Amino acid sequence: NLEVGIVGLPNVGKSTLFNAITKAGAEAANYPFCTIEPNVGVVEVPDERLGKLAAMYKPRKTTPTAMRFVDIAGLVKGASQGEGLGNKFLSHIRQVDAVAQVVRCFADANITHVEGALNPLRDIEIINTELCLADLETVEKRFERTQKMAKAGDKKAQSEFAVLERLRAGLGEGQPARRLGLSEEEQALVRDLNLLTLKPVLFVANVSEDDVADPDANPYVQVVKQYAAGEGAEVIAVSAKLEAEIAELSDEEAKQFLAELGLVESGLDKLIKAGYKLLGLITFFTAGEQEVRAWTIRQGTKAPQAAGKIHSDIERGFIRAEVVSYPDLVAAGSYGAAREKGLIRLEGKDYVMQDGDVVYFRFNV
Ligand code: GDP
Repeated sequence: NLEVGIVGLPNVGKSTLFNAITKAGAEAANYPFCTIEPNVGVVEVPDERLGKLAAMYKPRKTTPTAMRFVDIAGLVKGASQGEGLGNKFLSHIRQVDAVAQVVRCFADANITHVEGALNPLRDIEIINTELCLADLETVEKRFERTQKMAKAGDKKAQSEFAVLERLRAGLGEGQPARRLGLSEEEQALVRDLNLLTLKPVLFVANVSEDDVADPDANPYVQVVKQYAAGEGAEVIAVSAKLEAEIAELSDEEAKQFLAELGLVESGLDKLIKAGYKLLGLITFFTAGEQEVRAWTIRQGTKAPQAAGKIHSDIERGFIRAEVVSYPDLVAAGSYGAAREKGLIRLEGKDYVMQDGDVVYFRFNV
């Protein structure tokens, strides 16, 4: 259950964006097993490949994959000191796997900015500071105990303590943990701390309706992009208000509306794709006359575990996977043609699944 949490100061457009997400919502019938809480939005992940595969197989049913966004309200200046919803907010954000920070880049005299004038950089830094302070407290709590164990000669505690020292110094200077250059091993040592600033992040620049055709012309967007570039983070420009309106249109109407704006894709679709990538997720496909379907796995998942997403029996009885890459299949024109060209591979239990694999699992019952 991988989730992206939507955060941001009050009045930046979080609820409006979340509203667009829930309106665009996934068809519940396809995902019968997820109970949906009011602050959780489930959306289908747009994927052009699925339509192409459906055109090839003409299945009875086409099923996209889905992901979750969580609306996390309540972050204000002083949240780490218990202002606003304070700790409640922080415990919500601890549970998500990645963070989308909404930054207000639209000017609207009628809508109050909590901090006065429009200033995206200051807004980003307020949130950054709150999250760093919260993490600093978490690190401090662990510090002394680990130090004692390290002094007593505990090797693991010594390695952990070295990481805690780096975190304490960095967070104290307002550097998010993800910017401290910790190696995989170092991150693993502090994983159980669930640090807020270690989560991957992307920025959503909420621009006015007039800016969506060319968001880069908005100087505030440039400021956000510059900041984000400092940590290799992505920036998605959307107009939350417009997205909420688009989400009410039919697919055809939406396409036409976007075309009139000179766009091929809605901001929401861009955000969903970016969020999916941020979570480290990839897609594989199963295709047949009955159903063409997209499945979500984490990057690095091996074939049997991928099969387990479909059914635990297939994982248990896994023999081999017949795999063809999506580009190979499309180039060949059909599964049969791909087979004739030798493009279908037989992969075993150690095969690491790749994004876009079209798979048929062979298994013992
Ligand atoms: P939140 O407090 O961050 O959840 O902010 P809201 O989503 O409630 O938005 C605050 C106000 O800004 C509302 O009146 C929205 O209608 C307005 N708003 C949100 N997005 C946009 C936008 O893209 N353009 C304009 N003009 N107003 C927006």
